[in-house]
Amino acid sequence: MILHHQYAEQLSSLGSYVVPSPLDNMQVELFNHELAQQIGFPIDDISPDQLLAMLHSPSTPFTFKAFAQKYGGHQFGHWNPELGDGRGLLLGELKNQQGYYTDLHLKGAGPTPYSRHADGRAVLRSTIREYIGGEALHALGIPSSRSLCLFSSNTQVLRETAEPGAMMIRTAPSHIRFGHFEYYFYAQQHDKLEQLMDYTIANHFSECANADNPYAELLRQITLRTARMIALWQCHGFVHGVMNTDNMSIHGITFDYGPYAFMDYYDSNAVFNHTDQGGRYAFDQQPGIALWNLNALAHAFSSHCSIDELKDILSQFEPTYLAQYNSIMLLRMGLESTSEHKSCLTTWLDMLASEQRDYTYSFRQLALCDGINLCDSLRDNFIDRRRFDKWWNHYSALRQRSANQSTDLTRLNPVVIPRTHLLQDAIESAELDDFSKTTTLLEATSTPYDKKWDNHDLSKPPATTSAVSLSCSS
Ligand code: AMP
Ligand code: MG
Repeated sequence: MILHHQYAEQLSSLGSYVVPSPLDNMQVELFNHELAQQIGFPIDDISPDQLLAMLHSPSTPFTFKAFAQKYGGHQFGHWNPELGDGRGLLLGELKNQQGYYTDLHLKGAGPTPYSRHADGRAVLRSTIREYIGGEALHALGIPSSRSLCLFSSNTQVLRETAEPGAMMIRTAPSHIRFGHFEYYFYAQQHDKLEQLMDYTIANHFSECANADNPYAELLRQITLRTARMIALWQCHGFVHGVMNTDNMSIHGITFDYGPYAFMDYYDSNAVFNHTDQGGRYAFDQQPGIALWNLNALAHAFSSHCSIDELKDILSQFEPTYLAQYNSIMLLRMGLESTSEHKSCLTTWLDMLASEQRDYTYSFRQLALCDGINLCDSLRDNFIDRRRFDKWWNHYSALRQRSANQSTDLTRLNPVVIPRTHLLQDAIESAELDDFSKTTTLLEATSTPYDKKWDNHDLSKPPATTSAVSLSCSS
């Protein structure tokens, strides 16, 4: 057996079987051999081209039980029961040698019962962004869905303009979202809700099974994992862009990449999704929104947990988030967890904000100076040198006394991240059938701490500091 179909078989009433519909002249452009090995994909028996060929027939292990999951979601704060996999299909689950299961999910596979008159497709632009985004976050140590392969095609797909269509296969422990539980709760299908909860515990959170209340323990684990993931987003300047509850994974992994961006210059209010006019999903709103989303999820657990249990679980979000955020940020600077060290971090962020300095580049330059010898490249980054010098003297003194004094900070501060302008440049070439920039950017963002990129063009901030704006249409 190559693929398992546990979700489709055990929860068959929670979605629909749909056969993937191929695009014209599909070609394998990217295939992640390392990931394939880890998740137990039988790469010695099935080449990427054979996998693609198998997606063209309805009766292969990859297609015969392809399944569109039904879910709902709070979109920009409003409940929408009409969601589900409108263009993605769960092909099945792979089991690796250690016994872990991984979902294979084909995105852009054609219409499903949940497409709501949309075309069921994805464009090359958004699949490249998602492919690189998933691998980049993983390499940074931020939990994420990952990217197995990308197929280009000759089919044109209509968005704001006609664009080349594409598909990708992404992987995750499961594709269960907050919105799955919410849907069955609001639809008052309590038997299905409980089936889903039991399935989730048995297959993905077995550590919760023996708790006094396994459902409460499940919600607690989701809360803690989400808090840790959001802390990592904030540490790295990542803005997801569409934190609707249907885009929130129960595993606390970054999921459903849309108009995401890493901030270039530091701006705590940064918004890149141009449909988010009110800034609901702005950079500094993300922790609060994650808690809002967890509240929405907790509501769906309210028949299975007491009010006191729900309050206790949700109250663990903020301390978990803050502890994780502070410890990573201080470590990135080689500092310790004291109030004096924290205030040094705050002043550094204030300097970056007031001078609109590039976030990732500034941290990398700081890491390249070892805290004792000031490098010109760091000092020259700032306009107000008097303020900078004062800060540096304080920082340098703290760092030299810090227990983390000898930590190599280049291992904690990336040199390359998938900046929007780099992605756009790679996409424009790929749309002309040249994937070389995509491959190089993927390689660089998959090895983001490697010193070999320090003088490479991919490490440089964009020439202009004007804010980018990204379309949600993908
Ligand atoms: P997203 O904004 O990508 O998270 O999608 C929100 C909802 O719209 C989900 O139910 C998707 O499956 C659906 N959706 C997005 N784009 C398409 C499309 N091109 N065709 C069909 N459904 C889509
Ligand atoms: Mg989505």
